[in-house]
Amino acid sequence: MDTTINIEALKKDPGPTKLFIGGEFVDPMSGASFGVTNPATGEKLAEVAAADARDVDRAVVAARVAFDGGPWPKMSAGDRGKLLWRLGELLEKHQQEFAAVEALNNGKTFREAARGDVGSAVDLLYYYAGWPTKIHGETIPVGGPFLNYTLREPVGVCGQITPWNYPTLMAVQKIAPALACGNTVVLKPSELTPLTALRFAELCREAGVPPGVVNVVPGLGEPAGEALARHMDVDKIAFTGSTRVGRRLMVAAGESNLKRVSLELGGKSPLIVFADADLDKAVSACFWGIFSNKGEICSASSRLLVDKRVHDDFVAKLTAKAKALRVGDPFDPKSEMGAQVSTKQLERILGYVKSGVADGARVECGGERDTDGAKAKGAFMKPTIFTGVAPTMTIAQEEIFGPVLSVIPFENDAQAATIANGTVYGLAASIWTRDAGRALALAKQVRSGVVWVNLYNGFDSASPFGGVKQSGFGRECGAHSIDLYTQTKSVWVRLQA
Ligand code: NAP
Repeated sequence: MDTTINIEALKKDPGPTKLFIGGEFVDPMSGASFGVTNPATGEKLAEVAAADARDVDRAVVAARVAFDGGPWPKMSAGDRGKLLWRLGELLEKHQQEFAAVEALNNGKTFREAARGDVGSAVDLLYYYAGWPTKIHGETIPVGGPFLNYTLREPVGVCGQITPWNYPTLMAVQKIAPALACGNTVVLKPSELTPLTALRFAELCREAGVPPGVVNVVPGLGEPAGEALARHMDVDKIAFTGSTRVGRRLMVAAGESNLKRVSLELGGKSPLIVFADADLDKAVSACFWGIFSNKGEICSASSRLLVDKRVHDDFVAKLTAKAKALRVGDPFDPKSEMGAQVSTKQLERILGYVKSGVADGARVECGGERDTDGAKAKGAFMKPTIFTGVAPTMTIAQEEIFGPVLSVIPFENDAQAATIANGTVYGLAASIWTRDAGRALALAKQVRSGVVWVNLYNGFDSASPFGGVKQSGFGRECGAHSIDLYTQTKSVWVRLQA
């Protein structure tokens, strides 16, 4: 790992800023660009090329050419695995540099960027390096004089659209399994955080990924993302982002070539605490569940459902911790929470705080921007806890995507399950109790893609992640991503002439 990171140098030159198409960094057809900001200081970090529909088309053509011919389709599964391993080694070597760019561009703490974002991406690359040699079809015992077997084939050209909260991880979570299965990729990163995806493209070239296999087209949702979703030669769209945009992508797929779609969308995940739980551990899990990555996590524990018998004690402990949380410079090792990704996002969060107050919820702590000292220049928010929240309030229903927790008391198991299931989302849930029977019964009742019992935010490259209801469909990670990026062909052979 590189331990000689020069942050001042990275501020001046945070890496490539052009489009990456066909193995080269190129200018966009229109010559347009957009500014990228450091949300902790409000300073401009870079000017990045903006792709439009013509550039997206160029990238799709490059991806199609690479999928159909050249070294990529001829490469053995074992060699594809080695390539992914090399990419893992390269990303690991540059882990600190990536983490520093992520902290500069996203506002998260350097520590969070290094571990949760870039570190997890490295792990995914090593994990998927093992897969290419294990993807195979089956032989089916059909009736008659026939041999019937299946081939697991790559889907083709995959359009991938990612959000800003874990820029490196989200890109790698999509690129690694796609390459493991033999696909080619056109990735559109978020307009707020496009830098590490472009730098990763450079690493792909260094690792020996053939030209056209990975293309990166930074740009705005419209036109770049929309053009990718509507392109007639894109075979699949993999999306992580908001439910609002997820809806649009399904329309775009339906109105174009019926490309496959997988969606990892928003959440309003409940953390449910029963009176018999280990309350100190639950307090800590709830604290990090909502405040890590400044609450900008799809699986954030944004609703605390707590047994009313322990409600006051629990809230007192949690509030004391939240008041002591150190918000500040992402590069200060003492900082526990950095800046929100943008001023716009901060304003959105403050809008939700206003709505909670107007609806009659009580602010236990925070509830406002943090403008202390140098933080006045950045998009910093104080960790916020609302009590007296009714399950129907906007702050209990909508995804805030910031460090804002809504606390809702419950009286019994049935009521806890009803409240937990009472939003349009179904991404994650966490249950805290020492009663195993109760935990397992509730784990079955809760409608979500992931359930954690006596833990929060458990992730592993091998374990599936994704949502139900309006949190999306399709599972990423583990063998489930292999399903997303392959399709089955059934071959029949007559055994007697
Ligand atoms: P977003 O606004 O939906 O944007 C996500 C991506 O879609 C960005 O690259 C965006 O481009 C692009 N986009 C916007 N409009 C588009 C369009 N019409 N057609 C195609 N692409 C378009 O989400 P975000 O604000 O970046 O991220 C926050 C959301 O992501 C939250 O809802 C969060 O829960 C969700 N998320 C979910 C998971 C999960 O695994 N379930 C993980 C992380 C985040 P621009 O940047 O130009 O807008």
